[in-house]
Amino acid sequence: MALAYLLGKGASKVLHTKINIPLLLVLSILPDIDIVFGVLFHSPFHRGPTHSLIVAALIFIPVFIIYRKKAVPYFLGLISHFLIGDFIVGGQLLLLWPLSFSRFGLHELGFPFISIYSSVNVALELSLFVIATLVLIISRDWKVFFKGRLSNLVLIIPLTTVLLPSTIGYPFTDSLLVIEPALALAHIFYLVLFSIAVFATLVSLYRRWFGSGNKKPLA
Ligand SMILES: [Zn+2]
Repeated sequence: MALAYLLGKGASKVLHTKINIPLLLVLSILPDIDIVFGVLFHSPFHRGPTHSLIVAALIFIPVFIIYRKKAVPYFLGLISHFLIGDFIVGGQLLLLWPLSFSRFGLHELGFPFISIYSSVNVALELSLFVIATLVLIISRDWKVFFKGRLSNLVLIIPLTTVLLPSTIGYPFTDSLLVIEPALALAHIFYLVLFSIAVFATLVSLYRRWFGSGNKKPLA
């Protein structure tokens, strides 16, 4: 998510477009929805079709036709998940599915295997997290998480698909807090931030539906 934010933010600056940060963050973790499929349907397809560059490009064709350059930061956010993040760490990606069933990654190119729990990955993830948080603060983008905006509700997806498994361990048995506490802190930061965003939006909706006075629709 940190990587997608930095890339999307950079692209939006270069292209002079506005970005919806919650949507950008959700797109960046959406490929890992196959973890949920795996749990629900016992499917062995992690890092499969949802991590394919071809699938991502096909899905984005209509988005590019409609939104043109505005779609670029979101596309970069989505493909950075598997083309940079998962490619460096773990590999084993069906990057060209359905054209090819070959698995891709840095390790497949002959480099040493980097696991999620390796010190290289921990250092990479923490560095990206710190840089992204600094940009979030300096650019004042953090404010979006404290506003009651309907689009903030998309953050329920990372809350349940990524942040719960990686922090409290649900639906798995091992918590990141036990395995890699340093990374768990970064995850908990996003968990709290996204929970605030969802909560702020629900409070705004409640006030709008049941409160008196301000009936202005949510942005
Ligand atoms: Zn992934």
